[in-house]
Amino acid sequence: MTESLDPKAPCDLCSLPVGVKPCFLATPEKTLGFCCEGCKDLPDVA
Ligand SMILES: [Zn+2]
Repeated sequence: MTESLDPKAPCDLCSLPVGVKPCFLATPEKTLGFCCEGCKDLPDVA
């Protein structure tokens, strides 16, 4: 599986552009994209 994300796509936590090295978090519904490891480290709110 290959995931790619537009560098201008918004971070799923803070809405900043994810940039060229986004962090991904796979959830059952979708793959989220984050701008950094800090944003990726979400509490599980599901
Ligand atoms: Zn972020």
